[in-house]
Amino acid sequence: MSTEPGGDAMTSDFQREAELAALKREIVPRPQAWRIRQTEVDRLADRGQHCEVRKCHGLIVAVLRRWWRSTEAARVLLSERLACEEHATDFAQRHHIDIDPPGEVTARHLDPAELAEAGRCDWQGCRTGAAWVFTESFTTRGVPGSDRDLSCDRHARAFADRFHISTPEPGKGGAR
Ligand SMILES: [Zn+2]
Ligand SMILES: [Zn+2]
Repeated sequence: MSTEPGGDAMTSDFQREAELAALKREIVPRPQAWRIRQTEVDRLADRGQHCEVRKCHGLIVAVLRRWWRSTEAARVLLSERLACEEHATDFAQRHHIDIDPPGEVTARHLDPAELAEAGRCDWQGCRTGAAWVFTESFTTRGVPGSDRDLSCDRHARAFADRFHISTPEPGKGGAR
């Protein structure tokens, strides 16, 4: 306990000033917007989640991150929201940043040489020999990546539904 009048208040004022001065020196990272994978889009939709911007109920396709200096908390805070295509695009334009391009899934029938060494269908629990390959290309935070799923004839439709592409027709190569 201070015996000087106003001593406690002066100490806390001083601390507050020091905190705010430190806050001004803190680096605020650039905003970020990145796209989530199609399978993740579906998972969030299945859980009933939707775009968190205002009262939008759009399908979530991206994560938006923004940092700012909060004088109240005396530190840099992060706000993270899940957003639909439209609101993610708005955000990226407003902050002059790039958003990852949408991913793409293609399906094609394996050629005879590939068939010989393809292995098994990747559908859960299926042990049938694979006849199709589904290739998902995506970009996450500017880094391109891809995933491959092998499918038997029976599960080609289920894989196509999962990735929202048209069902490849049996016996035709290069279907998209
Ligand atoms: Zn939205
Ligand atoms: Zn299968």
